Amino acid sequence: MEYVKGKSYFCFSEQKIKQYNYLNEDIKCDILIIGRGIDGAIANFYLSQKFNVVLVNKGRLGMACTSCATALLEYQLDDFASDLLKYMSKEEIIATYKMGLDATKKIKSFINTYGNHCNFALRPTFLYTNSIFTVNKIKEEYNFRISNGFNCQLFDKSNNPFPFDIKCGIFAKDGGCEFNPYLFTKQMIENSKNQDKIFENTNIKHLIKTKNGYTAKTNFREIINCKKVLIATGFNWEVLNCNDLCDRFITYSIVTSPIKELSWLDKALIHDASSPYHYMRTLPDGRIIFSGEDTIFNGSMIKENKCIKKYKKLEKDLLKLLPNIKDKINIDYKFYGCFGTTKNNLGLIGKSKIDDNILLFISCGANGIINAMKGIEIIEDIIQEKYNPLSDIFSPKRKV
Ligand SMILES: Cc1cc2nc3c(=O)[nH]c(=O)nc-3n(C[C@H](O)[C@H](O)[C@H](O)COP(=O)(O)OP(=O)(O)OC[C@H]3O[C@@H](n4cnc5c(N)ncnc54)[C@H](O)[C@@H]3O)c2cc1C
Repeated sequence: MEYVKGKSYFCFSEQKIKQYNYLNEDIKCDILIIGRGIDGAIANFYLSQKFNVVLVNKGRLGMACTSCATALLEYQLDDFASDLLKYMSKEEIIATYKMGLDATKKIKSFINTYGNHCNFALRPTFLYTNSIFTVNKIKEEYNFRISNGFNCQLFDKSNNPFPFDIKCGIFAKDGGCEFNPYLFTKQMIENSKNQDKIFENTNIKHLIKTKNGYTAKTNFREIINCKKVLIATGFNWEVLNCNDLCDRFITYSIVTSPIKELSWLDKALIHDASSPYHYMRTLPDGRIIFSGEDTIFNGSMIKENKCIKKYKKLEKDLLKLLPNIKDKINIDYKFYGCFGTTKNNLGLIGKSKIDDNILLFISCGANGIINAMKGIEIIEDIIQEKYNPLSDIFSPKRKV
């Protein structure tokens, strides 16, 4: 099954990736993390500071969905707060917005300690619409944020500072950040405490319940005995023999060639809230990454001609959005990947329905990555049998 396809911009880096061995002996640990995309890397970095952790991945570092994440790291969720009230209380929505803001601080603190080797930058966010049908929703969201203490500003046609048309939009000065997701994953892995317990090219084929936890069997028949298994396999759930943890979609991206003097207000992360939605940001070498055009992922490959149509549609919409620079826009990269969604927009983080010793760490939605940064604290609390106030809204046992 293919979860990503195309030439991802983010993996083409000068930085050499450290290669890890495959597992060639039987071992024991407290926690086995399966999957070494960005979620597995975040989990491994934090959990290995407290527990005996083994990390395995079937391929090489961050080459799955992580390699194509647009990496708009924002505190807002996919849906408006007013729509999320069906699934969460007002207090829970506010807590998840705050969680997003705290996650940005946590990433910044990691970068301050280990250096900025992943093009990290703080950025404002801009959630806008150019459709009259969405204007009221944007205004309602703005009022929700202002009345709950979130610092933001409303722009409309009369004071629009952006080089594209808007009817209305919310500008959040401290709304988020950006980085190269592949390089951030590399940095997290290479700064983890358990360097001798990280294995690549190690595919977990079977999980067998035992008296004290689980036995995992690899493709080479090595055995890992552990107390708990943390599933960080992204949207590939073959190891659990299931395909219905949450809804899955394919989202498509194009990356332009560098555009001279490209800029818009503070290089904000841009999210068009109309339907179909698009999202975009600038890249450090003056390119634009533009994404969206989601289609349902049913487990089978996306046909080549469908991809071509989607990339063409993205290009057409980008040219329409930025007519003043349309002559300078050439497309250098095109790629797509799978991502998951849930009703309350939050990831699946916590004890699985299958067994309490199988924990899920699967980030979903538009700000999955940012929520994983704080979501790992839910996992730490579960392992230490502590209460975490956010565990219910992320629980894999909830209705998704
Ligand atoms: C085009 C696109 C744009 C996106 N934009 C954003 C965005 O702007 N902001 C945001 O927050 N998120 C975004 N996302 C979502 C984000 O990419 C994902 O949430 C994130 O990358 C998931 O990371 P992961 O580590 O869980 O999964 P992956 O990166 O898919 O890693 C899972 C790993 O598990 C391994 N694995 C699977 N099964 C096994 C097994 N049995 N044994 C061993 N290893 C196994 C795989 O080989 C893989 O390396 C976007 C996604 C796409 C596709």
